Amino acid sequence: MDQIFIEEMRQSLEDLRKNIISSLVVSNEDFKKIAEAVEPKDQADSASDDIDRKMIEAIGSQEVKRLKLIDSALTRIQQGRYGLCIQCGKGIPQDRLEAIPYALMCVECKTIEERRNR
Ligand SMILES: [Zn+2]
Repeated sequence: MDQIFIEEMRQSLEDLRKNIISSLVVSNEDFKKIAEAVEPKDQADSASDDIDRKMIEAIGSQEVKRLKLIDSALTRIQQGRYGLCIQCGKGIPQDRLEAIPYALMCVECKTIEERRNR
């Protein structure tokens, strides 16, 4: 695979990584604000705050998942195996990588995996 292309992908992966980390920090601050807003004596209201907290956690865990994929993709670059499907070893098309720089599987394997998870 084209070294210049890989370098571009590495750059966008690192940018994505920074964005996710800073957005996680922001939601952490929101989380803190919600936690501070909950008055310990007021038990009745804390239920709705609990929902907000769960929502933030859900968003956070999705981002953490994406962060893990980005890290794996960066590791694959270091190993010189970036752009090769982790399932079948076939090359992942460049336009797919441009759309999802942290794609680790080719479309066929990804489809099979999603079907299996359903
Ligand atoms: Zn594959």
